[in-house]
Amino acid sequence: MRPAVEQFAARTAAVAAGLKLDQAGGLSPSRFLQAWKALGRLGLLGLPFPAKFGGSGRSLSETAIALESLGRHAGFNCLALSVGAQMWAVQTPLLKFGSPEQKRRFLAPLCRGRARAAPAVTEKEAGSDVLGMKGMAERRGASYLVNAQKSCVTHAPLADFFLVWVRLAGRQGPMSLDCFVVPRNTRGLTTAAFRWEMGPAGAVSGTVSLKDCVLPASARLGRECQGLTVFLYAMAQERRLILAPAVGAMERRLEETAQFARKRQQSGRPIASFQAVAHRLADMKIRLEASRALLRQACLEHEDAFEAGGREPDDGRCAAVKAFLSESWVANCLDAVEIRGAAGCLDAGLRAELGAALSSRLMSGTNDIQKNLIAQRLGHVH
Ligand SMILES: Cc1cc2nc3c(=O)[nH]c(=O)nc-3n(C[C@H](O)[C@H](O)[C@H](O)COP(=O)(O)OP(=O)(O)OC[C@H]3O[C@@H](n4cnc5c(N)ncnc54)[C@H](O)[C@@H]3O)c2cc1C
Repeated sequence: MRPAVEQFAARTAAVAAGLKLDQAGGLSPSRFLQAWKALGRLGLLGLPFPAKFGGSGRSLSETAIALESLGRHAGFNCLALSVGAQMWAVQTPLLKFGSPEQKRRFLAPLCRGRARAAPAVTEKEAGSDVLGMKGMAERRGASYLVNAQKSCVTHAPLADFFLVWVRLAGRQGPMSLDCFVVPRNTRGLTTAAFRWEMGPAGAVSGTVSLKDCVLPASARLGRECQGLTVFLYAMAQERRLILAPAVGAMERRLEETAQFARKRQQSGRPIASFQAVAHRLADMKIRLEASRALLRQACLEHEDAFEAGGREPDDGRCAAVKAFLSESWVANCLDAVEIRGAAGCLDAGLRAELGAALSSRLMSGTNDIQKNLIAQRLGHVH
């Protein structure tokens, strides 16, 4: 590891270790906001973004290392989910498709941790089927009239603005979507909060409702009908890196589980000496190392092109990272429960981590959708 990255990872670790997490590893909304500011001051949210937008222009690999450090010390909780959703599904499309004015007004405060934003894509009846969304924009001269009901939006009640994807009235098919930057104080926009029963600890997500919102054409991100391209770009970036903190969480879980297995005695010997237990630990290690290698390789392949907005991300590769890391994380959590025995079922932190891991199979598109994409890129018809 290069010294600058090492130092940054250590500073991230110090912030994460200083968080007052609850028993399940989550944060109350007020502590979440404090932690957000601390990460903003540290520069984590702008790490791979250009300096002129408040970032520090570090590589994606270095960013992955810092995010792993966040996960190792604070787990994959509400903070890690929000950081990932914002950096990859909001900041990266703003960098790639934003006008100079949009970058100045929206991207720079996000990179500095002075604002929060969330992607609003999913609707109650349109999850995997993104093109089936009912949210609609109607052209009215120089502006748009927008109506939409979005669900599952990460930190919706705490966001200052949203990237909202809707269909352009009268259009069908892949060229029918538009994406808009919508500030919270837009007339007609309301949010309602909910908590996941199974998801990152402390995560407050919500619905975002837009009722007869009038948006200027300058609120559109990219060209008219470019919304699907913007969405696919954002999702590829998100699928590559959103689970970087989960790799850190997996590392810590393995260490704690191995320590438990060395200490816990049954039939007069440590349970780690039973081959069944030792093999579970070995499986956890293999999944951890494979996850880290896949993540870092995917970052290395694209880091030169990221800032310049040059080469398109390899979306099949990004889908593979998200699918593999989430499945590995679930499997590691299940092995940890098994090794802990009944104690595993009494551990609020482990229960929350398993819930977060299960939800990671769904976020950024379910793993079935990732596999459809990977198969398509292999040339197989889905
Ligand atoms: C923790 C968390 C955070 C999230 N954050 C956000 C956010 O910030 N913004 C946002 O907009 N959304 C967010 N989501 C929503 C997420 O993107 C959706 O849950 C996901 O796309 C799946 O949609 P769905 O839940 O409606 O399931 P459905 O699409 O109804 O899928 C149900 C089942 O059917 C399968 N299925 C559906 N279609 C196909 C197909 N074509 N091929 C194969 N299988 C298929 C799925 O794989 C799944 O098993 C979040 C979700 C979670 C869990």
